[in-house]
Order: sequence, then structure tokens, then C-alpha cells
Amino acid sequence: MYHGELTDSISCPFCSIPAGDILDENEYALAVRDRCPVSEGHTLIITKRHVDDYFKLSREEKSGPGALLEKVKNAIDRELNPDGYNIGMNIGEAAGQRIFHVHIHLIPRVKGETLNGDRAVKGVIRNKMSY
Ligand SMILES: [Zn+2]
Repeated sequence: MYHGELTDSISCPFCSIPAGDILDENEYALAVRDRCPVSEGHTLIITKRHVDDYFKLSREEKSGPGALLEKVKNAIDRELNPDGYNIGMNIGEAAGQRIFHVHIHLIPRVKGETLNGDRAVKGVIRNKMSY
């Protein structure tokens, strides 16, 4: 298990999200637009508790991001009407995790559109990507 310098909540950007950036929230999670979006509407669902690994969340805590993911997806449907979505989560340094605080990428997709950059579902195996 990797424990990097970003594991403490003091230096963690996801522990200090400005209130004005929060799109929506529930008891256990909040939603913000990704600062480096790979597509229009790219959103992050972030747990309110500073914990590095999704699998360390309790069953109850997991219900927060799950419910918010669905709510935000419905809002993006109304706002942008994309053709599809990618949902991605990197768990552990080997999987490409950079910020050691649980977050889920919700990436709207439009038919025929390539993503900005090559890190969609940031961490998929590069040579096997076929975007
Ligand atoms: Zn944090």
C-alpha cells in the first residue's frame, strides 16, 4: 500500500474545496467539475471524509458517492445531453492515482469526439486505449 505525501488532509486539495465550486452534495460526498476536464461536463464525485482508498469506505459511506453519481449524471443529461459516459476511479499509485483521497471521474462522451489528452478514465492501460 502506497502512502505518499498527499495522504494527509492538510495538503489535500479535495479537503479544501471552495464552497462556491460545489455543484451538489449529500451527507457523504460532493461533486465538482474537474479542473482539467477531458470532456465538457467532466465531474468528480469526492468523498467528504479524507480517505485514500474506496475500499476503506463503509457500506454506508459508499452509498453517498453512488447516489450523487446518479444525481449528477441526470443533471448532465439535462444540461449537455451527451451520448454516453465513462466512470473511472484510480485506486493506488500503480493504477494512476495522484490525489490520495477517494474520487470518481464522471466523464460525458459525445459520439465521434476524442478526449482532450490521453488520460481518460485517467489510468487505463495506455497501449490498450482505443479512443
Ligand atoms: Zn483529502
